[in-house]
Amino acid sequence: MDSEKPRDIIFISGASRGIGAAIAVYLAASGFDIWLNYRSSHEAAAAVKEKIEQHGRTCLLLPFDVADNHKAKEILEPLLQKDTPFGLIHNAGITRDTLLPMMKKEEWDDVINVHLNSYYTLGRIFSRAMISAKRGRIIAISSVSGETGQAGQVNYSAAKAGLIGASKALARELARRNILVNVVSPGLIDTEMTHGLAVDELIGLIPLRRLGRADEIAGVVRFLLSDEASYITGQVFSVNGGLYM
Ligand code: NDP
Repeated sequence: MDSEKPRDIIFISGASRGIGAAIAVYLAASGFDIWLNYRSSHEAAAAVKEKIEQHGRTCLLLPFDVADNHKAKEILEPLLQKDTPFGLIHNAGITRDTLLPMMKKEEWDDVINVHLNSYYTLGRIFSRAMISAKRGRIIAISSVSGETGQAGQVNYSAAKAGLIGASKALARELARRNILVNVVSPGLIDTEMTHGLAVDELIGLIPLRRLGRADEIAGVVRFLLSDEASYITGQVFSVNGGLYM
């Protein structure tokens, strides 16, 4: 891939830690330059940048809250005047788990804003640039919770199911513009987001009997950015050890 696309840029939201950080390093190793968004983990993001640079690639750190439509536009629009990334990976995410009868309005709003309303913001900004460039790939990181529904996660399940519907609709809009839109839907992956869960109990529900690793998500994202994936759009790739079939 290095020789085919030496200067292509990928924007990744929420890439200071966990799955996003793994995707960033994996893609840098595959020859992409990275625009790396996160919210507030500056030290962690700097460490990811260093790893990317060790692969001989550039990394532009872009700290902003993806739920802030105005800030996203203020930061991204000047950059997009000069360069158009080949890929948008929308990965930033949070959980605010509780049963719906107990859920505060802000717990609902925060989760919908960070996962789904940001897809409007980022999807709109990047798809406009990709339409002008006549090429691009957009990948949303959803979740098994968005496919099955999960008790205690009505907000998160709604946001993640919303990303699937939005991606399929956008795939139909952008197909004739040579822009492919897909979804990667992880099961339980070993990151800070799953620390604190009752992992021993949950593993019994997973046919492969272990949590997934962030690099196992990154590998699927890399495939979806490759030439081999040129006839794939509007699809959901579940990477969950068989948790949901
Ligand atoms: P982590 O909690 O490990 O990392 C979350 C990342 O998102 C961090 O880089 C964080 O930045 C960033 N982020 C959070 N809120 C914002 C925001 N408002 N604006 C910009 N960046 C933000 O999560 P994971 O790596 O586990 O999850 C990544 C994605 O994968 C999420 O969308 C999650 O829902 C999804 N997923 C995860 C699963 C799992 O089992 N881990 C399973 C299924 C889906 P900062 O460090 O600055 O806070």
